[in-house]
Amino acid sequence: MYLAGLSWKKAERLLSDGTIAVMPLGSVEEHGPIGPLGTDYLIPEEFARRIEASFPNDVVVLPAMPYGYAPTLTSFPGTIDIGIETLTAVLNGIATGMLRSGVRKFLFLNGHGGNNVALDRVALEIYRAGGQAATIDWWILAGQLNREWIGGHGAGQEAAMMMALRPEWVDRSDLCDAEVNHFSDALRNTHLHQISFGGGFVRMIRDVRDSVPTGGFGGPDESSAATPEWGDRMFDAVTEYIEAFIREFLKLDVGR
Ligand SMILES: [Zn+2]
Repeated sequence: MYLAGLSWKKAERLLSDGTIAVMPLGSVEEHGPIGPLGTDYLIPEEFARRIEASFPNDVVVLPAMPYGYAPTLTSFPGTIDIGIETLTAVLNGIATGMLRSGVRKFLFLNGHGGNNVALDRVALEIYRAGGQAATIDWWILAGQLNREWIGGHGAGQEAAMMMALRPEWVDRSDLCDAEVNHFSDALRNTHLHQISFGGGFVRMIRDVRDSVPTGGFGGPDESSAATPEWGDRMFDAVTEYIEAFIREFLKLDVGR
């Protein structure tokens, strides 16, 4: 069921401590030269749509939260960063509304790494209120399910998903190789904020436009490797995983 489609009477009847509130969330931000700005919430929203179809009675899908915490991407046109405090406050309000309606289990389908600090804070609040939250970062999960699917940001993995989901929104004519401004020969960016040095990694934060002017970077493949077929395979495999997790999560008794 979709929360947006219920009347309050139905919500009163159907929502319970056995229901899992599934919430997609992401960010509106640059995704490399060809990735749509909405990539991070559109993909989790599609997972939620598929999950609702499989669990129409046990799951309530919440409207997606499109905006997130993306402070290092704001130099790119179109990026919106609502800040960590705002995101945390919004998520807390949503959690409170669901808890008050009797829901105790939450599954956050996250499409953007920057949101994790807020998600962990809210998840702990939910726990302290007698519930239990789970978060799935799909792009990390995809790489765990198949090493060839490891992704970065705005590179092949995300472009492939968007080609499968909204092909008309991915314009390959702007495709280009990632341009990377390394700090030095010894301090090289291996991800947006990850520097390889002496056999290990160091985290060095800067505005992404200074380190990766093209905006897309990471994973074994650049955007040029993206195909809709690769996206379809990831959609299917990750959905299957989430559904298996939901079956286990439904068995948990978290009412305290
Ligand atoms: Zn993204």
